[in-house]
Formats: sequence, structure tokens, C-alpha cells
Amino acid sequence: MASEHGMVTKNIVVLGGSYGGISIAHYFLKHILPALPQKQEYKVVIVSAASEAMCRQACPRALISDDLFPQNKLFVSIPKQFEQYHPGQFEFIHGSATSVDHEGRVVIIGSAANSQTQVLAYHALVIPTGASTPSPLFGLNVGDEKNLREAWEEFRNGLETAKSIVIAGGGPAGVETAGELGEHLNGRAGFFSSRIENPKVSITIVTSAKHILPHLRPSIAKTAEDHLTKVGVTVIKNNRVVSVNPNNAGVSTDKIASGALLNLSDGTNLQADLFIPATGFSPNTKFLAKDILDSSTSQVDTNPSTLRVDKAGPRIYAIGDASNYARAAVHSIMAAVPVLGTNMKRDLLLEAGVPESQMPAEKVFKEDRRETQLVPIGKAKGVGAAMGWRLPSWLVWLLKGRDYWLWTVAPVWSGKQWAKES
Ligand SMILES: Cc1cc2nc3c(=O)[nH]c(=O)nc-3n(C[C@H](O)[C@H](O)[C@H](O)COP(=O)(O)OP(=O)(O)OC[C@H]3O[C@@H](n4cnc5c(N)ncnc54)[C@H](O)[C@@H]3O)c2cc1C
Repeated sequence: MASEHGMVTKNIVVLGGSYGGISIAHYFLKHILPALPQKQEYKVVIVSAASEAMCRQACPRALISDDLFPQNKLFVSIPKQFEQYHPGQFEFIHGSATSVDHEGRVVIIGSAANSQTQVLAYHALVIPTGASTPSPLFGLNVGDEKNLREAWEEFRNGLETAKSIVIAGGGPAGVETAGELGEHLNGRAGFFSSRIENPKVSITIVTSAKHILPHLRPSIAKTAEDHLTKVGVTVIKNNRVVSVNPNNAGVSTDKIASGALLNLSDGTNLQADLFIPATGFSPNTKFLAKDILDSSTSQVDTNPSTLRVDKAGPRIYAIGDASNYARAAVHSIMAAVPVLGTNMKRDLLLEAGVPESQMPAEKVFKEDRRETQLVPIGKAKGVGAAMGWRLPSWLVWLLKGRDYWLWTVAPVWSGKQWAKES
């Protein structure tokens, strides 16, 4: 038998190399593998469409220029984060999962480098493939870092001559992007004026909602709107972009700076030199069988207490934006990692024949649903709430506005965040 020769027979396969995937891989290597009876049988394999992890939250500012963040902190190599472990315990595959066969317990992977496919058997499977935004400016989506950099390049070229920018969507990504662009292009009105008289570039947010930032109370949204006005951003509410000409403007990379004619639901039109669709996200789950997805959100239908994907068979888990266990946010992932990790540890120990008495207790995930969202508006201002408490602008700046959480990601990527088994 292969295991008697010390060969790996049990792959712990993790699909996606971002907040969820990298965290779970470290958690496995630090806390689960050392507890398993036949350690040499196991290996964690990260399969990721991108070979680098990036601080996605920073995109609203990072898309303007490479000078705004140290690029070697914004993007980090995934395999490098795992050089600290024994080489036999970790493997990185640069490619995309194209299907999963739950009966045969294998993942089909398309290589990022060529047209080859690979069949990888899994003993346990974690699905943290995240989500894609309609605009390619806001993260890796299903491509790799080169695609994101190309999209930023196109946008920056367009920015040099743009006189009008329209952003569809009044959520945090739309508001933050408008704030960054407004301050960068128009500056900020002085202390005694509420608006910039003749903004250099007209920037408009169109939202179908009654107010921007629907996850925050209306009074906070109103303050955000005041901050936006000061950097030359106009907000159109109760209206939506119903059609765009050309129809893939702002969506396909070659049409990022194509200009667009937008029809709004009230019958009016807007012409934009740059159009940025910031209207939510769609989970990266197209490669999965429909019967394990939540039919209303297309996310992986995950047990919200245990983070197991009960319908998909034993030892299958999901976390992050691809899963329906909680609201899509980094803090949800950070809270879920020890729960998923502990429950996976139990399942693997049980499968390896370890008696129940020697196992950690099952952990239960409970989403913190209190009002929590921080939204910087340019480099100096911001609005937000944390755990139900409204935060002053300076605190939003201190926590997030300074560098869009870049100060928090290094320990997540390196695994230091998961040094303790909590
Ligand atoms: C502009 C913007 C700003 C945000 N700001 C904040 C914020 O301030 N605070 C906050 O809490 N949250 C914020 N979020 C949300 C946060 O970024 C997400 O919750 C987080 O990135 C989710 O992490 P994840 O691990 O689930 O997946 P993602 O970060 O979406 O990454 C998924 C990974 O999987 C890979 N992948 C995709 N498909 C496949 C496949 N088939 N096979 C292999 N690999 C695949 C991708 O390449 C990527 O590496 C923001 C999101 C956006 C878009």
C-alpha cells in the first residue's frame, strides 16, 4: 500500500488562494496535520486561478495608481507563504477547478499555463473560490494578477482624459471608488464650503436604493453623501442603469475606457467617459453541481453552523464569498476559519480511527449580524459602524482609510494570524 511507503494518499484540496483558502491551508498545516496519526499520508493542495494573493479591499484606491500602495505588500506570492512547511506537506497548483465529481471524489483542474487538465483526488475538499465583480477593477475574479493589472492599466489610460465618470451601485465599493476618484481628480472643498464649485471631472453614483450604503443606518449614509459632495461626487438615488451602450462597457477589459451611453430607469440618459459597474458580485461557483448550490444566490449551500457542505458528501466545506454561511466580508471569514478548521480536524481524526474521547469538541459558527462596515471617503474622511456602534470619521481613517486594511493582511497570508489554535 502506498501509505506504508510514506506516500501521500490523502489530499486536502483547497480551491482558491485568498482570505479563505490561504487561512484554511495554514490552519490545517499548523493545527490539524500534527494531530493526525499517519501524518505522511496527508498533504494540502491549494489550487488557485491566481498565483498571488491580493488585498482586495484596497482596490478602490489601488486602481488609480501603483504609487498609492507598496506593490510588494498589495500582491504576494501564494507558494512563498508556504515555504515555511515541509515541502512534502504542501503543493500549489496554478489553475482553475473546472468541475468536481462528488461520487468519484476528484477535482478537474485546467492549468493556468497551458491547455492541459489534471484530475486530482481529494480526501477533504474546501471551497473558498470567492466571488467576481462585474467590473474587472475590483479583484482577481476568476483570472490571475496579470488580468487585474491589465484592467487597471486600461482604466488609468482612460482616466488621463476623462471628463465624466459614472458608477452604478451605491454599496461600499461604489462609494469608496467615487470618494477616491473624487479626491484624486477634484480635490476636496474647504472647511466652510459644502461642495466643489466646478469639479474638474463630473463623478456620479447611480443607485436604485433610497440611500447609499444600505447596510448602514440612513443617518450614516447621509454623512457619507455629504463627504462625497465635498469631493465633487453627485448621487442619483431611486434610479438604476437599465441599459449600457456598448453593452459590455466597463465589464470587458478592452471596454473599460470605451465610454458608454447609459439609459436610466426614469427614462433619462447619461454619457460617461468611464463607466464602472459596482453592483454587487456573483459567486465563483459555476464549476460546481447545481444541487449543492443555494438556488437563490448561487453560493455553495453550506451548513451555517458547521460550515460543512452536507449535500456534497463527507469532509467537504465552504467558506468566504462563495458560500452562503454569512455576509460576504473578510471579518466573517476570520471568524469562520477556527470553526471550519476544528470541525475538519474532528472529521479527519474520526476517519483515521481516533476515538471520540481524544477529539476537540465540535465548534459552531454564529454570524455577528450587528451593523459593521467601514467606508473611507478619500484619504482623510470616512463613515462607518462596528458591532452596532457608529464610528467617528477619524477612527474610520485610522482603521481603514489610511491604507484600506493593508496593515492587516500580512499575518493572514503568512499564517501568523493562525499561530494559535483558537
Ligand atoms: C472592492 C471591494 C472592497 C471590499 N472591501 C471590503 C472591506 O473593506 N471589508 C471586508 O470585510 N470585505 C471587503 N470586501 C469583501 C472581501 O474582499 C471578500 O469578502 C473577500 O475577498 C472574500 O475572500 P474569499 O477568500 O472568499 O475569496 P476572494 O477574495 O474572492 O478570492 C477567491 C480566490 O479564488 C480564486 N478562484 C476563483 N475561481 C477559482 C476556481 N474555479 N479554481 C481555483 N481558484 C479559483 C481566485 O483567483 C481568488 O484567488 C470587499 C470586496 C470588494 C470587491
